[in-house]
Amino acid sequence: MFTRRILLTIVAALSMHAQQPKPLIVVLLGPPGGGKGTQAEKITAEFGIPSVSTGDLLRAEAKADTPRGREIGEVMKSGKLVSDDIVNQLVADRLLRDDAKKGMILDGYPRTIAQAQFLDKLLAERELPKPVVVNLEVPDEEIVQRLASRGRADDKPEIVRERLRVYGRDTRPLLDYYGKAVRSVKGAGTPDEVYSGVSKALHGA
Ligand code: AMP
Repeated sequence: MFTRRILLTIVAALSMHAQQPKPLIVVLLGPPGGGKGTQAEKITAEFGIPSVSTGDLLRAEAKADTPRGREIGEVMKSGKLVSDDIVNQLVADRLLRDDAKKGMILDGYPRTIAQAQFLDKLLAERELPKPVVVNLEVPDEEIVQRLASRGRADDKPEIVRERLRVYGRDTRPLLDYYGKAVRSVKGAGTPDEVYSGVSKALHGA
């Protein structure tokens, strides 16, 4: 009788566990102005997981009238990257929030190998799975056009050139870092056309 109850408890616990879908962590890679934000919104709509843009988190930090806020704002205006320590801490804090249990889309993070290593450690510590990496492939001409129509302070032509240079130098190496985990998707076309590739890539995950 006693063993039967224990067995039933174990079966109930196992089936509850089986009902919980595995969390999905998506890393969206791709050049600035490559449409990551738009695709992140669509992933949220389909998969019900929140999207976290480190650019948005940093823009919020930069609003603070403090030395730290001003420093972050200056770096962003120059098109360079904010320090790994600051960005890593923002992501670590964000991943602690309750809504991250089902997973998360990371838009614009990681952007350096050091950030990717930090993320790997963070996910392992929190018992979250390794990320599925979606790389949006967007031709340079299209990026320049898209950024010109967006009109953000760091979208001026000379700053865009700097951001693309930083992307090539610091962020593109992540494609090698993630290796076979990368699913490349054509990023040219309408948002819906691009999303059909993104969705397929995620369902194949
Ligand atoms: P985004 O909105 O992703 O284009 O980011 C705008 C700016 O925020 C970038 O040009 C960087 O200055 C800064 N930024 C955003 N994400 C990161 C990151 N992961 N690491 C360092 N800097 C970042």
